[in-house]
Amino acid sequence: MTQSQRRVLPETQDPDTGGFWEGARLGEIRVLECSSCGTLLHMPRAYCYRCGSWDNHWKAVAGTGRLHSWTVVEHQVHPDFPTPYTVVLVDLDAAPGARLVGYLDGAPELAVGQPMRARFENVDDDVTLPQWDPA
Ligand SMILES: [Zn+2]
Repeated sequence: MTQSQRRVLPETQDPDTGGFWEGARLGEIRVLECSSCGTLLHMPRAYCYRCGSWDNHWKAVAGTGRLHSWTVVEHQVHPDFPTPYTVVLVDLDAAPGARLVGYLDGAPELAVGQPMRARFENVDDDVTLPQWDPA
């Protein structure tokens, strides 16, 4: 069994989030934006909660952010994630209100608000996972 067969991976063809995963394969961080009023639709959804429009588009934004929070996992629950590892929550610089999750090996020294930079983990031909490293 290969790693990608065991590992839990996102559904990259989902109608609400497929554009995010397509961007990740191209090395882009994307957010969904309402084409009528410009509202950030995060988490992605088919219609705008502000103006009710169903017209939206994916927009590539800078792969930079600030560390919002993190947790160090020390109890292993899956063979593909040896401990310790750190789950980070990053505020996107270019999309206030949008936060993305990432994975770091080990238990690095981190600080709230520190600059973070996206890296793209190519899992297989269909799935690339955006991750976040200290900048
Ligand atoms: Zn709108």
